[in-house]
Amino acid sequence: MSTLLLETKALSAQYGKINALNNVNLKLAQGQVITVIGANGAGKSTLLNSIMGSLATSGTAQGDVLYQGESIMSDRVETRMSNGISLVPERRELFSSMTVQNNLLLGGFRRYLKRDSSREDTLDEVYTLFPRLKERYKQLAGTLSGGERQMLAVGRALMAKPKVLMLDEPSLGLAPLIVREIFLIIMRLRETGVSILLVEQNARSALQVADYGYVLEMGEVTLEGNAKDLIHNPAVIESYLGFG
Ligand code: ATP
Repeated sequence: MSTLLLETKALSAQYGKINALNNVNLKLAQGQVITVIGANGAGKSTLLNSIMGSLATSGTAQGDVLYQGESIMSDRVETRMSNGISLVPERRELFSSMTVQNNLLLGGFRRYLKRDSSREDTLDEVYTLFPRLKERYKQLAGTLSGGERQMLAVGRALMAKPKVLMLDEPSLGLAPLIVREIFLIIMRLRETGVSILLVEQNARSALQVADYGYVLEMGEVTLEGNAKDLIHNPAVIESYLGFG
């Protein structure tokens, strides 16, 4: 196995008395795509926010998150971001009254502060990956279609040049054709070398692009394995893949 980049150890989280995550252990190696599949409320967003350090103020997390071998549990979200972890949240959280290009530039703002002149090159890379964003660079983010908004959210995260990219249900609310496009983009992203933690309800597509998968149920990992094996696992088929 190649170098381990990110690891959670017995990661748990609560919101007051509600237990949202229980003893989750997962591993993401360099260049890998892993997926966490689960129904509504299984704890998927809580998992990503615990790793990012961006849990709601009512939430608390215990256990450990290791990044490049070191615990980041006490690091602030900004520190985790500048060290190479990016999260594309489920609600995209774009600046709707700003243009596509300015949203992208904001994603690279920390690099700008560090006078990292390669920010322009990253912008070109993002536009190569998403020609549709390039065509619409002057358009206000609030007027983009759902699929374009998702592309912009991913593009903005990429502007920070992350080593770990976490995607929270990128296919949510999108039409089937656009969903296909989003998963093709995830496949292309992995070729750029970024390691991806993908959280999805669309289990079939997620398992098709991932190397390894985890099934999360009521905050606990109930099953894990190579994505190719999980696709054929009867329990996964019954609960998450259905027919088709
Ligand atoms: P979905 O697919 O619907 O987004 P999810 O798998 O991402 O679901 P979470 O959003 O992590 O699940 O929620 C897990 C549990 O934690 C749920 O019971 C949810 O109601 C609860 N929860 C999430 N956020 C909060 C919060 N800010 N305050 C209180 N409870 C919360």
